[in-house]
Amino acid sequence: WRQPAGVVGHQDAARMSFDEPAAGQRVNGAIVALVRNSELAGLRKSIRMLEDRFNRRFKYPYVLLNDKNFTQEFRDGIASITTNEVRYGILDEAQWGYSPSVSPAKALAALEHNRNRYLYGDSLSYRFMCRFQSGMFFEHPLVRDLDWYWRLEPDVEYYCDINYDPFVFMRDRGLKYGFTIALREDPATIESLWYHTREWIKKNPHLLPERSLANWIMGTDGHYNTCHFWSNFEIVDLSLYRSEAYRSYFEHLDRAGGFFYERWGDAPIHSIAATLLLNKDEVHWFEDIGYKHPGNMHCPRDKNMLARCVCDPSQAYTYRSACQTRFGKVNNMLKRRLLQLIDE
Ligand code: GDP
Ligand code: MN
Repeated sequence: WRQPAGVVGHQDAARMSFDEPAAGQRVNGAIVALVRNSELAGLRKSIRMLEDRFNRRFKYPYVLLNDKNFTQEFRDGIASITTNEVRYGILDEAQWGYSPSVSPAKALAALEHNRNRYLYGDSLSYRFMCRFQSGMFFEHPLVRDLDWYWRLEPDVEYYCDINYDPFVFMRDRGLKYGFTIALREDPATIESLWYHTREWIKKNPHLLPERSLANWIMGTDGHYNTCHFWSNFEIVDLSLYRSEAYRSYFEHLDRAGGFFYERWGDAPIHSIAATLLLNKDEVHWFEDIGYKHPGNMHCPRDKNMLARCVCDPSQAYTYRSACQTRFGKVNNMLKRRLLQLIDE
């Protein structure tokens, strides 16, 4: 049923502006998920919860990416859960494969070695996934024309009504990176990541800003404390990943081989880059967005925030997380100090 043109009463006008954010009040952004055909049920759940809480009203398109062709069953299953636009993309071989410097035989030996050392220790596809998410997704033909993205995964949960547009919120405040949960990484998965990061910093001080959030990931001992933003949720101004500095950092890491010889995750890589390249005023904790990815949950304890949520803040991981607490406390670090600390 459509309102006849020109017959918009006061109440309807209010409701319309509530339902449909005015053009210009939006960013060029999308909700992006890399997903397997086998994860249809999990992604339907994630999309439904995000639709209910946010996107039925804000109508951002979904970009779904896969290393294999999406099946008709998958497309039908998604089409029945949202009326918003869904764009389907496939990855090419360069985006889903080994780092050029890596020897597949040596990589397979490393998988064997790491089989029982940590989760996904022996998974090759997990390595391809982390490499793609770290250095390639923002260049995919369906993503490269976007200015912003909001990452979604199967089997996540959204608990709170989001009555504003987080993309616009970020843009208007000069924010570049938004997260919900911060935690520690398993050091066994990133044994040489900090060594290679330090090498990159030493070679490329000209790519670093004068002040950054490096204090969050590094103590005065110059070591990486493994704090990172959990990248299964992130809202990012993609100019961060497309910057000369980020590309240079990724290429350096890709050459080092650790995506395969170790199990470097996109979460620590995105996070280290964000903290080295951004300052405190550009990174935002969405405390009001209650969220769960298997393993950890965030639920706001602030009364006004919690009023719009269906979750239990006493179960939230975030208020017990040392990395989260540290995020609230640290200030920017000067480049001069950063260079001193990593040199020691
Ligand atoms: P975890 O969150 O680190 O436990 O890893 P996930 O299994 O959730 O993978 C992270 C994201 O990459 C999810 O959105 C997955 O659907 C996606 N993903 C992981 N492996 C593959 C794969 O082999 N193919 C595709 N197409 N997507 C994958
Ligand atoms: Mn996941």
